[in-house]
Amino acid sequence: MSVNKDKRYLDYSSYIKKNFDQRVQKISINAGFTCPNLDGTKSRGGCSYCNNNTFNPFYCKPVKPVLTQIEEGISFFAQKYKTQKYLAYFQAFSNTYAETSHLEKLYHEALSHPQVIGLAISTRPDCIHPDNLELLTYLAKKYYISLEIGIESTFNPTLEAINRCHSFEETIHAFVLAKDRNLHLGGHLILGLPGENKDILLSHAEKINLLPIEILKIHHLQIVKHTMMAFQYKNDPDIFQLFGLEDYIDLVTDFISILRPDIILGRFTSESPAKYLIAPKWNGLKNYEITAMIDKALIHKNLWQGKNYLNAVAR
Ligand code: SF4
Repeated sequence: MSVNKDKRYLDYSSYIKKNFDQRVQKISINAGFTCPNLDGTKSRGGCSYCNNNTFNPFYCKPVKPVLTQIEEGISFFAQKYKTQKYLAYFQAFSNTYAETSHLEKLYHEALSHPQVIGLAISTRPDCIHPDNLELLTYLAKKYYISLEIGIESTFNPTLEAINRCHSFEETIHAFVLAKDRNLHLGGHLILGLPGENKDILLSHAEKINLLPIEILKIHHLQIVKHTMMAFQYKNDPDIFQLFGLEDYIDLVTDFISILRPDIILGRFTSESPAKYLIAPKWNGLKNYEITAMIDKALIHKNLWQGKNYLNAVAR
């Protein structure tokens, strides 16, 4: 893995350049999946932070065919970048939650586009099992396949409080099932969930270090409209300790210093559309601006990825 000398951590764009020798753009797809936390298999309420209205169009209108979504995505990005290659990003809901034959059809449809060189598939730990992994393993012989697993927290009381309806042990199990299959395994983590103090937040890094994970995306908790959390926030705001920007940057830099040095960092924040965001509001700063602040803070604190990894292992 080549290191971007301007960064004190392994960044995703360098990883993509190294793997593909060019810019590769992800195109988000809504393939009409649902999730066991919404369809009643485990719950109907969903995770308490999940705004189903923002990415749940298939309950209301038919989803466009995967190839049409790819074509539309390519025409959008082709105007902005000279990118020639794309990853189909199965993003909305749980994208391994269907019969394997149905998954096969959808994944093949995406891969049939000549400019699509692979898939990024986002899912829940409890939607990963040997059948769908066999399919992904087969596809990974020919294509780049990244599997992004929603970890969200490594602390079971938090997972229970936010109604994730799975435990961290199930997350570990999913990673163990998925490893050694030439899949690029990623994880997604939310920092700032209710009840998590700094010690717990930093302990996530230590537990994630033990997973067979290649890419980690983190972001701060955002409360968005039409969620259970929005209701809780209105009625009992004191249960939340939402991050101010400076405190978040301070936490993330400490977090990076504990993280295993070979984990690629996919992102540090996410931007909910302003019309949905309730709190925290960071003056509309963009992801790249916050990333630049994190880069600066790492220099200021003389921290880098893995600096405190061995100390954490020794504890
Ligand atoms: S966040 Fe994901 S797993 Fe949770 S309810 Fe929403 S779609 Fe389902």
